[in-house]
Amino acid sequence: MKIRGLIRMFSFAGWRLAEITFSPEAVQVRLVCDHRRRLRCPDCGRKVVGTHEEIRTARDIPFGPAMLVLITYPAVRARCRCGWSSWLAPPQIDAGRKVTLRLLQQAVRLAKDLPLRKAAELLGVPDTRLRRWDKSVLAEHLPQPNLDTLRFFVGGREGRRSRARLCDGRAQC
Ligand SMILES: [Zn+2]
Repeated sequence: MKIRGLIRMFSFAGWRLAEITFSPEAVQVRLVCDHRRRLRCPDCGRKVVGTHEEIRTARDIPFGPAMLVLITYPAVRARCRCGWSSWLAPPQIDAGRKVTLRLLQQAVRLAKDLPLRKAAELLGVPDTRLRRWDKSVLAEHLPQPNLDTLRFFVGGREGRRSRARLCDGRAQC
């Protein structure tokens, strides 16, 4: 039996696929640092050298019948001459949320189109976690409101007739 395409499916820049274990319930993916590629400082782009490694995990999108896909990877502590110093993780992984970006994108897309509980069931995550992801991603990507073009509706009642005025945000109402 030959399996092709797994390396492209689990492609993480700067890290490479070392091992993958399948079971009907879960898929375990192990990444290692790709030492053929040098890590770069996210601030200035210079090449940096890792000083420490720490094994971390991130959840990925479901794979076939396996709802749980867990990626383990070494996060690398690096320091740059420009003064930057932090942990580096594959750019396709949101290290803070411990999920891959593709899972996050799919979660937000499903939460938009389906009832939250159904979307959470399809992804195999609790609906509270999906709600938290959805709100935080929205907060990151929503543009700042432009109050100059704000128009609002003022309604009131005078006796039995209702009164409404449409006001421009800059005008006095
Ligand atoms: Zn730098």
